[in-house]
Amino acid sequence: MQRPTLALNVVMLGPPGAGKGTQAERFARTHGLPKISTGDILREAVVAGTPMGQAATATMDAGELVGDEVMIEIVGERLTRPDTRPGFVLDGFPRTVAQATALDGIMDGRGALVVIDIVVPEEALLRRLAARRICGSCGVNAPVEWIAACGTCGGALVVRTDDGNGIVRERLRVYHRQTRPIVEFYSGRPTFRTIDGNQPPDVVTASMDGAIREVSVGPGEVRA
Ligand SMILES: [Zn+2]
Repeated sequence: MQRPTLALNVVMLGPPGAGKGTQAERFARTHGLPKISTGDILREAVVAGTPMGQAATATMDAGELVGDEVMIEIVGERLTRPDTRPGFVLDGFPRTVAQATALDGIMDGRGALVVIDIVVPEEALLRRLAARRICGSCGVNAPVEWIAACGTCGGALVVRTDDGNGIVRERLRVYHRQTRPIVEFYSGRPTFRTIDGNQPPDVVTASMDGAIREVSVGPGEVRA
């Protein structure tokens, strides 16, 4: 496979349960790009106890979301590292219009930003998230074929606590409220693509690949 001659700068959007993380991971791996997840960076900073990590911990301990300023600083710093020169796959950023605007500033002169929005109907997301069940006795993850009992030990299946239906609906509601302005921010751009995430993962991977290839600008071309 030929290396891309132009940076592949990809932003992934998509609700919880849409398979965004998996797709970001796959795309990054097959194209030799770093996958930049703000969740991972924050967790690492917290563990390392850096000043940024301490600030983030204090914010999260207070039950608040880490603010734009800190997130922009984290991502801005990460994007100065040389491994991001050929491009990157961003997962979990931007989450606000302020972050998206800052990202445009960071990207100045680095090529187009390809924005992929993975869309899955809410009912399908609820089914997927609610299907994340475990065995109450042995703790094994239950595949969808198991209706009520564990196929290993016969124990009763329980829904993982963080996937209780009310919590899932609330997570989706919060996601859509936060993300709609970002989708609006990007949707008019020629490098914005919506991907149908309600398909088998391999099909989603293929459509994403195709979409990104289609919108990537060749060298020498000028984008208005
Ligand atoms: Zn079991």
